[in-house]
Amino acid sequence: MLKLIEKPEIISFAGGLPASELFPVEEMKKIAVKVLDENGEEALQYSGSQGYLPLRDHIANRMNSKSMTDVNAKDILVTSGSQQALNYAGNIFLDEGDIVLCESPSYLGALNAFKNYQPKVMEVPTDKEGIIVEELEKILQNNDRVKFIYVIPDFQNPTGITWSLERRKKFMEVINKHEIPVIEDNPYGELRYEGEFLSALKSLDTKALVIYLGTFSKIFCPGYRLGWVCAPKEILKKFITCKENSDLQTSTIGQRELSKYIDDYDIDEHVEKVKATYKKRRDLMLSCMKEEFPKGVSFTNPSGGLFTWVKLPEKLNAQEIMKKCVENNVAYVPGGFFFPSGNKENYFRLNYSSCKEDKIIEGIKRLGKVLNEEVSETVEV
Ligand code: PMP
Repeated sequence: MLKLIEKPEIISFAGGLPASELFPVEEMKKIAVKVLDENGEEALQYSGSQGYLPLRDHIANRMNSKSMTDVNAKDILVTSGSQQALNYAGNIFLDEGDIVLCESPSYLGALNAFKNYQPKVMEVPTDKEGIIVEELEKILQNNDRVKFIYVIPDFQNPTGITWSLERRKKFMEVINKHEIPVIEDNPYGELRYEGEFLSALKSLDTKALVIYLGTFSKIFCPGYRLGWVCAPKEILKKFITCKENSDLQTSTIGQRELSKYIDDYDIDEHVEKVKATYKKRRDLMLSCMKEEFPKGVSFTNPSGGLFTWVKLPEKLNAQEIMKKCVENNVAYVPGGFFFPSGNKENYFRLNYSSCKEDKIIEGIKRLGKVLNEEVSETVEV
């Protein structure tokens, strides 16, 4: 299926790619020359495992201004994208048969990273305001091998849902009571198109339980593979050991280039440009979906991030329908993959960041045509 959707005639809403036309190519050309001119030898040398200090300073300052945290460079480890940090989390916390909790549904890439360590993954039900804490409490009361809970409170992948502040606070009460480590994965938090930034779980943490993962992939570009872990001291030490043992350090030159970019340019201004484009594309996609999709098909209305999550009538199977979609040259990710326990096939995920406006209009038209045929077919049955 993945091979098929690479065909040029397919309009794909399947990936989670940022819009490449917004990458700061010209700026990074100048920065690359500058870094090599000014500090060429250091930039091409090995460097410390924890990461380039000026970049860690930038990361801590940005986190404090966006996520209401109070952290500094010593709390940060620079990783090769947050995907690497997810793998380290599995390595540090999990033995075969341990339990990992996650939202239902959750990010497939994280679940796959944890799978290497053979845990049992248990889903915690969610609603429009985030994880349902009463359900979490029940699970924690009945299971003693829970090693951590993995959550994406901001513009979740795949649903686009953001936890309310009240839910965040209630969640932390339960976490503090049971003293369970939390992996807070936040690649999309800065991509907020309306409303105020909400406190990160990290900023509500009073018992050194929250491990925060961030990344430059979605606000800047993924090609540098630059992400980070911000964790309590003793836990961060373990992440640093993982880093030393796996690849020694994140690319020296990449870290220096990004740090210099943040020195010389206004990264917040860049993020504003990205947000303006994504907001426009989100609005367009949602309004086309309202026009084209049949009754009985519903979808989330995310106030940020890259995805909307579509729910089909229960009898429909998004994997089956995907075959018809590919015949009609349009693609999405069937939702079943995001539920580790399986059995939920009537969902799919759409990405609105990577396709230009004309493709969004045409792609949703094609998808609407297939869905209209499918929904009327099930009604007849
Ligand atoms: N977490 C989530 C929720 C994601 O959606 C992604 C990327 N799709 C990642 C982590 C990994 O991002 P990266 O490794 O590029 O930082």
